[in-house]
Amino acid sequence: MAEPTPMMRQFLEIKERCKDCILFFRLGDFYEMFFEDAEIASRELELVLTGKDCGLAERAPMCGVPFHAALSYIGKLVSKGYKVAVCEQMEDPSVAKGIVKRDIVKIYTPGTVTDEQMLSQKRNNFIASIYEFKNMYAIAAADITTGEMYVTSLTVGSTYNHLANEIARFAPSEIVINNNSESIEKIRKFISTFGGSYIAPVNEDMFDFDSAKEHINDLRFAGESAEQSKKSMQGLLKDELALRSCGALISYMEDTQKMHLSNQLIATYYRASEYMEIDASSRRNLEITETLRDKNKKGSLLWVLDKTATSMGARMLKKWLEQPLIDPSEINKRLDSVGELKDSFMQRCELREMLAGIYDIERITGKIALGSCNARDMVSLRQSLSKIPYIKEALSQCNSDMLKEINEEIDNLQDVWELLEKAIADEPPVALKEGGLIKKGYNAEVDECKEASVNGKTWLADLEAKEREATGIKNLKISFNKVFGYYIEVTKSYLELVPAHYVRKQTLVNNERYITDELKKMEDTILGAEERLTRLEYEVFQNIRDYVFEQADRLRTTATAIAKLDAICSYAETADRENYCRPIISEDNSTQINIKDGRHPVVEKMNAQGEFIPNDALLNCEDDLLLVITGPNMAGKSTYMRQVALMILMAQAGSFVPASEAQFSVVDKLFTRVGASDDLASGQSTFMVEMSEVANILSNATPKSFLILDEIGRGTSTFDGLSIAWAVLEYIANTLKCRSMFATHYHELTELEGIVPGVKNYCVDVKKKGDDIVFLRKMKRGGADGSYGISVAALAGIPKVVTLRAKEILSQLEEQDAKGNRKTKKNNKISSTSDIAEAPLDLLSFTANSVMQDEIISELKEIDVQSLTPIEALNVLYRLHQKAEKRI
Ligand code: ATP
Repeated sequence: MAEPTPMMRQFLEIKERCKDCILFFRLGDFYEMFFEDAEIASRELELVLTGKDCGLAERAPMCGVPFHAALSYIGKLVSKGYKVAVCEQMEDPSVAKGIVKRDIVKIYTPGTVTDEQMLSQKRNNFIASIYEFKNMYAIAAADITTGEMYVTSLTVGSTYNHLANEIARFAPSEIVINNNSESIEKIRKFISTFGGSYIAPVNEDMFDFDSAKEHINDLRFAGESAEQSKKSMQGLLKDELALRSCGALISYMEDTQKMHLSNQLIATYYRASEYMEIDASSRRNLEITETLRDKNKKGSLLWVLDKTATSMGARMLKKWLEQPLIDPSEINKRLDSVGELKDSFMQRCELREMLAGIYDIERITGKIALGSCNARDMVSLRQSLSKIPYIKEALSQCNSDMLKEINEEIDNLQDVWELLEKAIADEPPVALKEGGLIKKGYNAEVDECKEASVNGKTWLADLEAKEREATGIKNLKISFNKVFGYYIEVTKSYLELVPAHYVRKQTLVNNERYITDELKKMEDTILGAEERLTRLEYEVFQNIRDYVFEQADRLRTTATAIAKLDAICSYAETADRENYCRPIISEDNSTQINIKDGRHPVVEKMNAQGEFIPNDALLNCEDDLLLVITGPNMAGKSTYMRQVALMILMAQAGSFVPASEAQFSVVDKLFTRVGASDDLASGQSTFMVEMSEVANILSNATPKSFLILDEIGRGTSTFDGLSIAWAVLEYIANTLKCRSMFATHYHELTELEGIVPGVKNYCVDVKKKGDDIVFLRKMKRGGADGSYGISVAALAGIPKVVTLRAKEILSQLEEQDAKGNRKTKKNNKISSTSDIAEAPLDLLSFTANSVMQDEIISELKEIDVQSLTPIEALNVLYRLHQKAEKRI
């Protein structure tokens, strides 16, 4: 049997340890890939696939990339959902005995990349670990670039849906999960609905309890006070499931980075109920951070609200919108600070100007902790720190509690700034081993070496002048290259003037190159000085980096405080520019939602030319519990309901709202059932998706929740749909008793006002102009007086011949309806709710008239009664009976 070559054996051994990765195997100046890895990489990266003799019967498929360009290739593979393991040479090949030692130094995965070019600045890159045990779950999510980590468990009373809500909140780019979990496929399908993430099923051992406890030994906990951090830690220690998932996440991340990480993470142990619960489909439907259709930020709520000046602030604002608060005093605290900055224009401008000069301190600190920062990062940090005293000065003028707290949390970091100011050069190179990092005057030894190297260069210039003089060769030149070091270059026309002590080293087409003893002796001194200088500068830089690393906690706290300040400034800026008002958040037991002149924050921005018509809204848990909203298509029902939901969300996230006045009582869960979309990825039909979302709402909503339901039931036959909508509405009003808005084209539902307590009818006003309608976009009390579907169809450009025919059919149907049952003609309404029990019969007659009767009659007509045998007659009768029964 063929034996692999030693190199190939080494490759195969290393590959065995990272089977799920594409292995970049360092060979000299290239990273090579072999076998299946090579086939995948050549296809995905458009590289030429070659082969290598490797001792085996067949050549190994191979492709490679130059080492200096590897990062962009790795980035492409990771963005396509692959994991890449990088294997380096661990010793100098020129001194290695036998085969060079190699080992994996880093694994790149979608959730653990740290390189700027693979990350988006304005959003976190979360990796999550999920642990499932007997239908209970725990989830831990971390962003390795910022060091933040969040952990919770979903146990008693929780369901898979609660897990899905948490997954949607973090939108992780990678999920680690125990491979015996029964939810893997469900999660895979679920995450495909919001862009997908890489799923890494791992062995249950990774979730081992004892190693988890060890991992969290040196984990630090977030909290505004030591007390709070301690509470967070104790909470986690008592929660076995959460602890296991936290431990697994740390192990997984440490394995990718090949370094100890737990001391660099700041953990928060939380309960999902600490924030407003928004389920995954409501998040999507409300377009909080991206649009439903093209997943763009433009057109989302975040797009309107994000006026942040820093990436840290942008991430904080996104987080705030993704997890609105439920504690009224915390919300009011945020709103107070927004109000203060909204009203003080000058202070806000000054702060925003300072913030604009601040780089991503959070991620720079992350890079320092991971040992991957360079001198340019230090320059960015220095520039950022230089703004801090001015920010603190501006904040010291502020009165609101939150701004005062932020000022306290921001550390001047004077020592760090002074060190960087004194030590780091103004324009250092990217590389760390080429010198140019350290400023003159910081380190005496560095200065000495620099001088020696400069002196050496002056000496060379003097020698050049002296030799020109002595030889008479006017264009004699002293130059340098890596192969020969320093040499004297003479063009061919002056060859006869070259003195005898010049030693020839190289002949080129037009000139000759020489060395002399004097030059070679000095070369050692000059090169020695340069080499020492770069080494020394690197050492000094490392010491500085170590000092800054020791200050990582102070940097992180400051970064978080600055991010909060930036998010508040952004809220204030939007509130001022867009004319938003401060919502009043009730701290008592009120259930009132009262909005005056509310607008949809996104629609009013998107249709910049058209005027947006404001509308009021009044809901509470008494008389205005459930609003049934009717009106023609395109009238503005969905826009109205969404604007109310968005304003609730904005207010609880601490933002002002687009209205002239607004009062809210806190909502614990926000549910929306709007729009219909097929969930092809999970193999569910439109109607099925709709019904499962309704089911989720009905089993999870509480009297403190807020629901918007847009045309539920429209995905099935009219009567099924109406019955479902009717029953759902009754259940919400009578049993759940939560504030809801219910838009519908089933005018029958308006009959429920006055019968089901809390139901109120509203409709969107339209003006009739002959056959046409004009949308007034104004909400008014009462039910709509017609559907106008055909008028809207005409507006949409449906050919006249079709709309005329539709009118004909409509009047026939209305006529039949008037003759055949007791419905009022105009609105297709059942005359009273006492008819509910009979409604199916009414509805049946409608269908029977139009379809079944016709069929039965034509079949009867075709029967030749004279020729029928008794058996045949019985069969026909049986068939007709069956047909009639099926309809029922
Ligand atoms: P359908 O029943 O067909 O779903 P709808 O009644 O829900 O329609 P919307 O989708 O809410 O109607 O609104 C249709 C369009 O009307 C929106 O895209 C928006 O541009 C515009 N619109 C809605 N409300 C207003 C308003 N208050 N002021 C100005 N334009 C509005």
